[in-house]
Order: sequence, then structure tokens, then C-alpha cells
Amino acid sequence: MPFRISPFWWPVLGVASPIILPFLAVKNKRFKKNCGIALDLNKNRIDNAEPFELPELEFLELTILVEEKAEEGYLGDAGVSYLFRTNLGSLLFDVGFGPERPALAHNAAKLGVNMDQVDSLVISHLHPDHMGGLKASLLNNVSLPKELGLPNGKPCFLPAKSEAKGFECEQIDSPQLLNAGIASTGPLARGLFFLGLTEEQALFAHVKNKGVVIFTGCGHPTIELIVQMVKRLSNIDIYAIGGGLHFPVTGGRGNRMGIQIQTIMGTGKPVWQKITDDDLSNTVASLNDIEPKKVFLSGHDSCDHSLERMKHELNAETEVLKAGVTYRL
Ligand SMILES: [Zn+2]
Ligand SMILES: [Zn+2]
Repeated sequence: MPFRISPFWWPVLGVASPIILPFLAVKNKRFKKNCGIALDLNKNRIDNAEPFELPELEFLELTILVEEKAEEGYLGDAGVSYLFRTNLGSLLFDVGFGPERPALAHNAAKLGVNMDQVDSLVISHLHPDHMGGLKASLLNNVSLPKELGLPNGKPCFLPAKSEAKGFECEQIDSPQLLNAGIASTGPLARGLFFLGLTEEQALFAHVKNKGVVIFTGCGHPTIELIVQMVKRLSNIDIYAIGGGLHFPVTGGRGNRMGIQIQTIMGTGKPVWQKITDDDLSNTVASLNDIEPKKVFLSGHDSCDHSLERMKHELNAETEVLKAGVTYRL
């Protein structure tokens, strides 16, 4: 694995260590506290989750607007934006880096997608690669490229307190049906070393004659926990699982200035520990136990090594999501 922080930075880190080490100690204390809070929150939420009826969808079609991997002519980016269309409507899941990078505007235009065709927006979690960029994250305000058109007060379902200019914002605090026949697991929490207590919601829906389809954003709460919640909410067999699982084992995406941000941020481990092949093996085993028929992997937060391993080791029919492609689930 290449260095998570380039040797170029090591002298700087050495000189700054009298500041960095106490800072990391404070962060670690808060991280441990947040891990405890997340554990309690999630246990409570799962214990108290009430099953509800999911509409049986005639079809569910998924068009990938932003992903790390892309079809020829489309731009790849280390973010996520998925458009779900069903016989009951449409729902946009996340907006990648929004106006900060060209992928969403370019790919949406090429696919002929704009806000007129979107009934609602769902944000999985408030990280820059899902809510519209670093500025959106710092301002806590979801941001879309203007080329997509105006939201005109359409609903935006958020997993935590945030704004989304032009939308009618609704903070989701428990599992519920959103729109287009697609439901949210409600927020599930994860303590992250630098990013703090992170709330993330995943989507799930029931496709006729197939079963339940689950889609995650970054998958920070872990797919195991997300599936545990979905199983509390519905007893229908799981047909497909898709989205981010966060396995930057041999390297991260979107590296900046010699720093592999994804291997340091968002792993759910202290900064000095890596996500390992053993971690991936455990999740592969869990997914094989769950027995979905299909798995759709996101390359935006998993390295090629992890994607290849999953493609070979998962029993499910497995493919890597690509921007520009429409999948019929
Ligand atoms: Zn992500
Ligand atoms: Zn994230």
C-alpha cells in the first residue's frame, strides 16, 4: 500500500508533533465517546423500530449520475449521485460533489436528467462527496449544480440537521417511507475519528417478484448494521444490496496533496489503524450469509483491490456501478 501520508509531509509532521500529538489525544477521547454514543443510539433505534408495509414496486430503475467508475463519455468522480425511478415516482439519492466538480452537471446533461424529473432528494449523510462538496459541508447546506435546474420547493430528506437551498427540508429521525415507494432506514450513527458522530440513512424498497433492494451512501454504519435494521422493518427476502461499503484497503479515492484522505477519514477506526483485508473478509462473509442475489458495488469509497476481491468472493452476482449506466433492479 502506498503511504497514507506522503513522505513529503513527514518532516512537517515531525516538527508539528508537539501540537499534533495532544490534538490526536483529544480527538481519540472524543472518538471513543462517540463510538459509545453511536452504539447506544443504534441499539435503541433497532430495538424500537416498528415494521411497516412497503409498496410492491412494479419496477425499480437506477441511473448512475456520479460514481468513481464511468462509461465512456461520462466523468468519474469519488462521489455518489443515483437517480431511482419506480412506477410510483422518482428520487435522487445524493448529489456527489455538487457544483464543485463537473461530474454531476456533465453526466446529468448527457443523460438528459434535470430537477424536473426528480420528485424528491435524499441525502444519505452530510459528507462532501454526498451533499455537494466541501463548501456545502462547511456551510451545512446541500448544494446542486445550477445546470440541474431549480428544486422549486421539492422535499429533501436529510439524516441530520442541515439546509438545502430551494428544497423543503425534512429531517428524518426514524425509519419511514419517503417517496417513489422507497423507504429510509432512518439515521444510523457511526463515530468517526476526525469527522465526529456521523448519521447516515440508507434506502430500501420492495420490488415485485424479487425482494428487498438496499442502497447505501458511504456505508459508514456498516452494511451489517444497515441490514440488521432493514430486517427489523421488513421480513421480505433481501434481493440486492448496493452502494458504498467503505473499503479503501490498498488506497483511497480522491487523494489530495499526497494524503489518502479516505484511508484516514471515515474508516471508523483510530487514525493510526488501517482498514485491512481481514475487515473486508469479515464483511464478505456477512454478505454471503445475508445471501442477496445481486450486489452493486460503489467504487467511490473502495479501492480496486477491494472491488476485485468482492467480485470474486461474493456468492451474489456482483458488479461495479458505473456513471452513465441504468440498471433495472
Ligand atoms: Zn462517500
Ligand atoms: Zn462519508
